[in-house]
Amino acid sequence: MPAGDSTVVITLGTGTPVPNPARSGPATAVVVGSRVFVFDAGPGVMRRVAAAGLPIDGVTAAFITHLHSDHTLGLPDLIFTSWVMGRSAPMRVYGPRGLRRMTDHFLAAWAEDTAVRITGLERGRPGGYRVDAREIESGVVFDSGGVKVTAIPVPHGNWEQAYAYRIDTPRRSVVISGDTRVSDALARASSGVDVLIMEVYLESRAAPEPRPGGELWPQYLREFHISDVEVGRMAAAVRPGVLVLTHVLFMGGTEDELVAGIRRGGYSGRLVIARDLQRF
Ligand SMILES: [Zn+2]
Ligand SMILES: [Zn+2]
Repeated sequence: MPAGDSTVVITLGTGTPVPNPARSGPATAVVVGSRVFVFDAGPGVMRRVAAAGLPIDGVTAAFITHLHSDHTLGLPDLIFTSWVMGRSAPMRVYGPRGLRRMTDHFLAAWAEDTAVRITGLERGRPGGYRVDAREIESGVVFDSGGVKVTAIPVPHGNWEQAYAYRIDTPRRSVVISGDTRVSDALARASSGVDVLIMEVYLESRAAPEPRPGGELWPQYLREFHISDVEVGRMAAAVRPGVLVLTHVLFMGGTEDELVAGIRRGGYSGRLVIARDLQRF
């Protein structure tokens, strides 16, 4: 098989809303030959794209799981920094309803910047900051040159639309959960996948928090996210080549507790708690 079909998954950012200096915001790259697909754009994403040695002048396409800020704060970075670094074609971004309004607002928010860069001595390329925002429904959203991306609707609290993505390339299959609670659709779409990337929280640490509204925290976790035991149960049924944990809500817990929770769910296969810039 030609080397152009090689598929590498890079965890660009493995963090949560917590600004942990060691963990950039949620973002995962799937690199197929010379094409780069980025899933979610958490804060810090372009620093991690550069650290991974990927092109800084624009990715092939970006896919957003949902519009929570921790997954989208890096989207203007992905858009404007790649333009400043040389991108001249519109950046293609897929995501749920509301994506286009968000990217339109980005362009409006940085209108003075783009004007100065174009009319000033930087001689920025007019229009190079453009965005081709595509609001998606479930199903195949991208299919080109042997790479197919399928959006799977997932339940994430009271978000009307949130998606996981399955990526099929000539060599591998990858599922990226985004943020989700337990989902039969996600489990079905993940069956036998080579790389299963899951968000997770530590069930044993789900307790009310000492702040106004903090009594709702356990309910929030149950309705918006998936626990270690639930991920273990899902992975035991799905049997992925490797289970990669990211966006971990530790809440004071440890990696050993996390692994114990996954095992309690019944999964005994290969398991990695991802760090930024790991490759799979
Ligand atoms: Zn999140
Ligand atoms: Zn979320």
